[in-house]
Amino acid sequence: MLERTLSIIKPDACRAGHMGEIISRFEREGLRIVAMRLLRLTRPQAEGFYAVHRERPFFADLVEFMTSGPVVVMVLEGENAIERNRRIMGATDPAQAAEGTLRKLFASNIQNNAVHGSDGPDTARTEVAYFFSTLDQVDWD
Ligand code: ADP
Ligand code: MG
Repeated sequence: MLERTLSIIKPDACRAGHMGEIISRFEREGLRIVAMRLLRLTRPQAEGFYAVHRERPFFADLVEFMTSGPVVVMVLEGENAIERNRRIMGATDPAQAAEGTLRKLFASNIQNNAVHGSDGPDTARTEVAYFFSTLDQVDWD
């Protein structure tokens, strides 16, 4: 099934100069970028994006981290793009992430873990719409 998913290159990976490598990886894996923007999240934007985690003990630190520098937000498109992106990213905790995954390569710890990816069709739809209107998403064909 042709899907769209939201990807974020988090502040740690942007700061470390890994934006290009991460974007290259998506291109090599055949995920097409249909929208992309470099921005710095405000506190309310980060809190809204991670609202499902607001009761978790790590929420305040997560918001602090996500607002600590620029991020790249992208919409990736492809067959099973949601699941494929999650596989390319690897486990949330880099200590658990498989060899060659973006988090194994670029994450420092369970919080500063380089990338975000939507975890299912419903979240993908909500998260894409959080950053991009349909007019922002290009048609390659
Ligand atoms: P994922 O990003 O793999 O979907 P979650 O949705 O569970 O993971 O968590 C969202 C983000 O919150 C993670 O990517 C990570 O930055 C942060 N996070 C998750 N669990 C923890 C934790 N135990 N301690 C600190 N930060 C965490
Ligand atoms: Mg998640």
